[in-house]
Amino acid sequence: MFAFEDRFTRHFPADSATGREPRTVQNALYARVEPEPVSNPKLLLWSDEVAALLGLKVDAQTSETVRNVLAGNAMVDGSVPYATVYGGHQFGHWAGQLGDGRAINLGEIGDYTLQLKGAGRTPFSRHADGRAVLRSSIREFLCSEAMHHLGIPTTRALSLIGTDSTAVRDMFYDGHPENEPCALVCRVSKSFLRFGHFELLAQRGELDLLRRLAAYTLDLSDPDVDAATPEAVAGLFDRICRDTAALIARWMAVGFVHGVMNTDNMSMLSETIDYGPYGWLEKYDLQWTPNTTDAEGRRYCYANQPAIAQWNLSRLGNALYPLIEDVEPLQNSLTAFNQEFHAGWNRLLAAKLGLSAEVLQANPLCYQQLVHVLSALDMDFNLFFDALSRIAVRDTDCSEPESMQALLGCSYAETPDAAPLHAWLQLYRNLLTESALADRGSSMRAVNPVFILRNHLVQDVIDAAHAGDLQPLQDIFMRLKTPYADSPDDARWVRKCPPESMHRAGCSMLSCSS
Ligand code: AMP
Ligand code: MG
Repeated sequence: MFAFEDRFTRHFPADSATGREPRTVQNALYARVEPEPVSNPKLLLWSDEVAALLGLKVDAQTSETVRNVLAGNAMVDGSVPYATVYGGHQFGHWAGQLGDGRAINLGEIGDYTLQLKGAGRTPFSRHADGRAVLRSSIREFLCSEAMHHLGIPTTRALSLIGTDSTAVRDMFYDGHPENEPCALVCRVSKSFLRFGHFELLAQRGELDLLRRLAAYTLDLSDPDVDAATPEAVAGLFDRICRDTAALIARWMAVGFVHGVMNTDNMSMLSETIDYGPYGWLEKYDLQWTPNTTDAEGRRYCYANQPAIAQWNLSRLGNALYPLIEDVEPLQNSLTAFNQEFHAGWNRLLAAKLGLSAEVLQANPLCYQQLVHVLSALDMDFNLFFDALSRIAVRDTDCSEPESMQALLGCSYAETPDAAPLHAWLQLYRNLLTESALADRGSSMRAVNPVFILRNHLVQDVIDAAHAGDLQPLQDIFMRLKTPYADSPDDARWVRKCPPESMHRAGCSMLSCSS
């Protein structure tokens, strides 16, 4: 059923020591370490689609082997479990060695690596427990799959295992530690390599391993190129700059805020990775971040994400420099990041408005005034675009009471001022050609999600799961699979963040403690 290969572990040197003792791991890319068993594992969620990607043919709900392997309680043939070593810049500062502190890789199945997050201590756990609690594992599983169904590159989730094991967490680091149930997510990706893997090797001057890791990464995306020549590595960096730009543009277009864009949380495959204190713009606020740990500086707030991604890429560029020894191609690729991001963002925003990219680009006032309307009226970002796709704008005035009401209904303000909205609608209407008018409804609905995995929805599901009711978890997993379509039960899923949830723990206030 699980036929693991050990490609990564065979390809690279392992730490000579085994065991979980915290240590510095040098001249190696990983340490062998087995998951620590958990008590009474239960399969809470399973993705049939991810299982199909892996070619797994199994009745997951009844299989004891599946449950035990994905809980880390049993090993199967071919699996050589390991934790990788990486470093990273956290909140702008070099943090030294970090590594998989609670994620243990089981090996590869076909093109994919399977990784158990929350599998127990590794040499990189420092003084932490290597566990993930149920609330954050639910959030990770659901958001991985939600992002995929939105069409946004992401690591995937095969399974969510609940356990009777517990871990102590002080959710807000404010002196209120509590025992919480632990869980494990089996994450799936073609690679979990991060910028930080390269940064650590470069920082330590382990250039031979750096070159081998670059060659390995090149081979992942283009099997014809497997030698890390200066040109090939420059090409790899260029590809990552462009794909990361496209990724961030997609985040911005659905209002996604990652929350912790440290370089150790940036994927070499330009996938969204490491779902911690993430969130979605509800009330339009460019400075918004769901991460309370970042509430002061707002380094990773919504509007900063493109600039931070570029800063992170410049760290990766520094790390790859010894393999290229020429600054110019690196600088060109960092410039290409800007161009790609702006082109991608303009294209997506135009599609969201039902306009052509050229028309939007030629009329910057449309965007500027839209931003003004969204912020002045405290609009819900995603509900606004959804409502816009449904209203009639054929008449030149386009301010029929129902249309205005639908749009103003997306505002969090008590008495939103209709005047700026009205003015913007006129401007917008004048940019719509006859053909744009004809199919704007369906084309806009194909890019503006109806369903967003809002934090308050997930928190309700988590509360129910803690109380023993797993049905809401199943329901939301079903709903997130078709985010661009309406569903009969949308009264339950598609609504503004309720006032009582705006400052509720787990909704707008999340921390890295998970
Ligand atoms: P994160 O903020 O989740 O990206 O994690 C940053 C670093 O801390 C990574 O090296 C993680 O593996 C490590 N880490 C986070 N939580 C834990 C935990 N509960 N036990 C061990 N290591 C952890
Ligand atoms: Mg991380």
